[in-house]
Amino acid sequence: MPALPRRLLLAAPALLLAAPARAVTLNEAALTQGGFVLGRAAPGTRLALDGRAVRVSPAGQFAFGFGRDHAAQARLVITPPSGAAETRVLNIAKRQWPTESISGLPPAQVTPDAETLTRIAREREKLAAVRAIETNLTGFAEGFIRPAPGRISGVFGSQRILNGQPRQPHYGLDFAAPTGTPVLACAAGRVTLADEFHFFGKLIVLDHGHGVNSLYAHLSEISVPEGESIAKSQRIGAIGMTGRVTGPHLHFSLSWFLQWLDPQPVVLPA
Ligand SMILES: [Zn+2]
Repeated sequence: MPALPRRLLLAAPALLLAAPARAVTLNEAALTQGGFVLGRAAPGTRLALDGRAVRVSPAGQFAFGFGRDHAAQARLVITPPSGAAETRVLNIAKRQWPTESISGLPPAQVTPDAETLTRIAREREKLAAVRAIETNLTGFAEGFIRPAPGRISGVFGSQRILNGQPRQPHYGLDFAAPTGTPVLACAAGRVTLADEFHFFGKLIVLDHGHGVNSLYAHLSEISVPEGESIAKSQRIGAIGMTGRVTGPHLHFSLSWFLQWLDPQPVVLPA
């Protein structure tokens, strides 16, 4: 609702009825594939996106996101504290994803053996379980910072060709910087995973609440244990080259539950 002089607000209830505040506001610019949407709703509002309940904090904060290959539309069902449910159709802008070729990787890393495939599957399940956690933390609503300095050496969404073979898209943003460079928590949260994986090397996952997670991979060092509460911009580890890498960098990802999102507009706003 546009700001009205207080005098007018008090004097003109009929005007307020004619132009009610929208029950839900959100950052429309994020309605794209890979987009991370933050919004506010009147406290007590219930939301569902494409049939999935979206948690609304007591203060009315919420977040959701759209995967890299999301369809052209999404349906947001808004149920105000009193009144009928309203369905808002959200148009999700399509994006073009670049193709990126990386060659010279050790063949065993591109086509792992059976034992390694078993390990990878186990790690994938562990990561999915952590990313599925939903808590009432609200670090996601308090702004994000860039997690590391350095050159952007890889972007979200690119189709990867490894040693000439198509592999899954790149779901993170890469910051190339020397081993030992501090890695900072992009927002307040809690450590839900601090482990060493085949592809990701040493990695940390932070839960920022409401299904919003950040992931930090290829670390040389992990400085925080699982379960610890972390302040925004706290040092959590250091850049390294553990796991599948060709040089020292931070692989940084954001997700809303199992949807990987583009971190770039969130931590490096234009
Ligand atoms: Zn990466």
